[in-house]
Amino acid sequence: MNDIYYLKRAIQISRNSREHGNTPFGALLVDKDGNILIEQENVEITESKCTGHAETQCVEKASRLYSKDFLAECTLYTTAEPCAMCSGAIYWAGVGRVVYAMTEKQLLSLTGSDEQNPTFDLPCREVFARGQKDILVEGPFDELAEEAAEVHKGYWNK
Ligand SMILES: [Zn+2]
Repeated sequence: MNDIYYLKRAIQISRNSREHGNTPFGALLVDKDGNILIEQENVEITESKCTGHAETQCVEKASRLYSKDFLAECTLYTTAEPCAMCSGAIYWAGVGRVVYAMTEKQLLSLTGSDEQNPTFDLPCREVFARGQKDILVEGPFDELAEEAAEVHKGYWNK
């Protein structure tokens, strides 16, 4: 399976997240052999949890289940580039690779100043660059930007 396959799965998770009453974001964790270990929807609204972003929840679960050495060889896939909080969580969890479909800037253009998601304008590569670990980042995938954005249509009050 390639990155596109897992990103499409992440987009499906973001669709499910919206259907389940949360913001339209999804993430998944894949090991070095391509096995999906965790699938995570956003849970901010249903769990009244400000840290309920899909990526933060995903790596929080992962850190309870796996060692940092193991996670260093895993990839986190997410529909939108991780925010500063999620990038921090990914860093502390020790996940070695991050792949996203659309940039945070593209997301910002979708959410605007919506109160539910006052999106940062801070590339995750900049957050990681200030740390002490080499985290490989791949994205955006322009061929998926439209599919990733489609899930957000009509959601944000911009
Ligand atoms: Zn986040």
